[in-house]
Amino acid sequence: MLDRQNTINTSSTRSGIGLHSARLVVITIRPAPVDTGIVFYRSDLTGIDTAIPAHINNVSDVSLNTSICNSDGAEIGTIEHLMAAFAGMGIDNAYVDVSGPELPAFDGSSDRYCQMITEAGIKEQSDPRRYIKVLKPVSVEFHQAVSTLTPSSALHISTKIDFSDPFIGASQYFYVHDENSFVNELSAARTFCLYKDVSQMRAAGYAIGGSLDNAIVVKDGQMLNETPLRYTDEFVRHKTLDCLGDMRLAGLGIIGHMTTSRPGHRINSELLKALFSDESNYIIVTSDELNDAEEKVA
Ligand SMILES: [Zn+2]
Repeated sequence: MLDRQNTINTSSTRSGIGLHSARLVVITIRPAPVDTGIVFYRSDLTGIDTAIPAHINNVSDVSLNTSICNSDGAEIGTIEHLMAAFAGMGIDNAYVDVSGPELPAFDGSSDRYCQMITEAGIKEQSDPRRYIKVLKPVSVEFHQAVSTLTPSSALHISTKIDFSDPFIGASQYFYVHDENSFVNELSAARTFCLYKDVSQMRAAGYAIGGSLDNAIVVKDGQMLNETPLRYTDEFVRHKTLDCLGDMRLAGLGIIGHMTTSRPGHRINSELLKALFSDESNYIIVTSDELNDAEEKVA
């Protein structure tokens, strides 16, 4: 386990269109001091506070994406794939400038965000990393979805999906978080949808920027994309990626086992709210304290 907090070495910039808004935006990730966490800035807005800390208390929309908003009304959407890259690559502190209301979709996965972090370089900082350690089981249900967090020695995510379209079908994935597992197992898994849902999503103002370049689209037991699946179980891996990104809205990394069936952004946010609803559910520990505890057990 890495002991110190990490930021990035220098800035990195890309541009791309949002999955839902279709807006072309420029995104820059920048280094941030210890204990900053992840803070977004709307670089296109003036006259209001444009800083939006990535925290569950700021979540404003969980329909088909995760959006956050500050008290001045500055909002940023579809943050989950970048948050997953920060969580997966162990970045504790970063500033993110975005010139519009939604992050770029890129190819529908976290790969481009991982490239930005790799290009910027990872920089170890002076202070110990802090974690939220789950002490008691917490469980939430929403429609057919069920999610729990239970105590564990590290961050684990067990994900189950069950779709009626046979191309997606039922599958499960067990993710054990370590330094390399995100990039090796999850980061390239793309978002997906059913073709039959596209017109309804667009009528509701979502997926306007969606295309076969940034999402897998499934229709009647086949995918419409010409490029093949990147993993045979790409769908459940992407859902696991989303869970990792959404759990990073705890503000710190979680030490616990998330078990989830039919997850989505709404139940992910409800799970974090349930965790924080009772202070006896968790404890904030530093990496040094964790190492001391492990030595005592050994
Ligand atoms: Zn996603």
